[in-house]
Amino acid sequence: MAFAITQNCCADATCVTVCPVNCIHPTPDEPDFGTTDMLYVDPRSCINCGACADACPVDAVLPISSLTGPDRVYAEINASWFDTVTPGPAPQPTPAPRADRPTFHDWGRPQFDRTLPARFPALRVAVVGSGPAGMYAVEDLLLHTDAQITVFERLHQPDGLVRFGVAPDHPATKQVADTFARLRRHPRVTMRYGVEVGRDLTHESLAATHDAVIHAVGAAADRRLDLAGEDLTGSVSATRFVAWYNGHPDVPGDAFRLDSERVVVVGNGNVALDVARILVSDPDALAETTVARHALAELRRSKVREVVVLGRRGPEHAACTVPELLALTHLPTASLVIDDHDPRIAAALDAPGPRDCTAVLHDVAREAVDWSRPPAPGRRIVLRFHSTPSVIDGDGVVQAIRVRNGDRGTDTTIPAGTVLSAIGCRGIAQPGLPFDEESGTVPHEAGRVHGVPGAYVVGWIKRGPSGGIGTNRRCAAETVGTLLDDVATGVLPVARPSSRRLSRRRAALS
Ligand code: NAP
Repeated sequence: MAFAITQNCCADATCVTVCPVNCIHPTPDEPDFGTTDMLYVDPRSCINCGACADACPVDAVLPISSLTGPDRVYAEINASWFDTVTPGPAPQPTPAPRADRPTFHDWGRPQFDRTLPARFPALRVAVVGSGPAGMYAVEDLLLHTDAQITVFERLHQPDGLVRFGVAPDHPATKQVADTFARLRRHPRVTMRYGVEVGRDLTHESLAATHDAVIHAVGAAADRRLDLAGEDLTGSVSATRFVAWYNGHPDVPGDAFRLDSERVVVVGNGNVALDVARILVSDPDALAETTVARHALAELRRSKVREVVVLGRRGPEHAACTVPELLALTHLPTASLVIDDHDPRIAAALDAPGPRDCTAVLHDVAREAVDWSRPPAPGRRIVLRFHSTPSVIDGDGVVQAIRVRNGDRGTDTTIPAGTVLSAIGCRGIAQPGLPFDEESGTVPHEAGRVHGVPGAYVVGWIKRGPSGGIGTNRRCAAETVGTLLDDVATGVLPVARPSSRRLSRRRAALS
């Protein structure tokens, strides 16, 4: 019986690396990698060896025979992906060095396989940020160089979004932190906590004491709706809510009062689904997780019974992934309903098509919700599509949100006491580095920052806020590969550290 990849898939492709028969796709070399919701095992070529399951950092790969309950659908999800896609050929073994070619490069295009020849001195690399992007860069540096690496983390705890972004009811996903912990214990890695680059240290001072600086600072700012009423009490970014229930030190324990029966979440990406699910979860079940104790206490006294998730487009364009949406369809403590207010919704859900979000929603209950009435009894999540927020109403505090209904030109008012905006985030300018205001990223070429020799970027500050944890693994491989190319071609001069430079380095770090 073959294996199948399930909901927790982090898509870091560790499984692809260890699969002896190339049955897991898309691989990082294939065009679909990074755009699919997850990776898939082809049951026709899987030889049931279990190497992928052993290697998976988040326990997402399971034998099909062991799938139970709602997870059984992943057998079909894995298999059906291969109905429409022809995976690439199996990877070719690295060719043996040819006698007529120098073993090392000829100062043209580097010919080594991302491993620096021994004649280069050990690199000294600073990594700014200890979240997934930074730690996958650390892993890649450890694997391909003998670099000494110092990781600078502004908080006093590591792991960034793995600790403070992943929902507490996704413990398997949080398990990837075990991988990062092993990297932190590596003798060539030094962790520096409570140091904020841009406040306590500058990029220039790091550059003076390291051969290269890799910035992995993520996308720290929330995108704004730019609506009237957005700053009313009760209108908050979903990322702040996520940080609150994960115990982020920047968000006070009393930042949220869940006193209203209805919460509206703007946006239908995975962050929106996370906050909706947590709001209707059973607090006793959450108590078994890493949820912050202050959040658990508030969730226990919460009056929230209905969470409305707004999408400005139709279900065929929902931004969430299939596994996260599937999870909403079988919550033990809340039902899922689609507000059937627009004929385009049924048209999209009833059209035959691939196993995407519309297929997941096809059998979900539909109802024409009467928003003038209080929420229905029990706890539920209502998905409302074709609804663009126009105004948040209230007198000091949020009382309702008005939405424009698709292209019908009508408005609907949805009474609510809290509006959580889950419309994504953006990077913030890093002192000493160029910045593209429009995309909220640092301009770069394959990770090499434009115009600042020795500066590199990885993760969301490099490519914008999309992709899950594992996407950063390939992103980091690209950045580190560029860094190594630069060393090999002399773009990045690497000096043996002089005793003066070493003492400057110690002074800067003390
Ligand atoms: P996202 O996936 O980009 O979703 C943003 C949502 O906000 C979309 O529905 C978007 O609608 C909507 N939106 C944007 N601007 C809007 C506006 N002005 N008015 C109304 N709606 C607006 O962002 P995210 O949810 O923050 O997730 C970021 C990344 O993290 C994603 O790649 C996500 O998969 C990942 N993540 C993964 C997990 C997980 O795997 N469990 C959990 C959390 C986050 P349009 O589509 O119409 O633009």
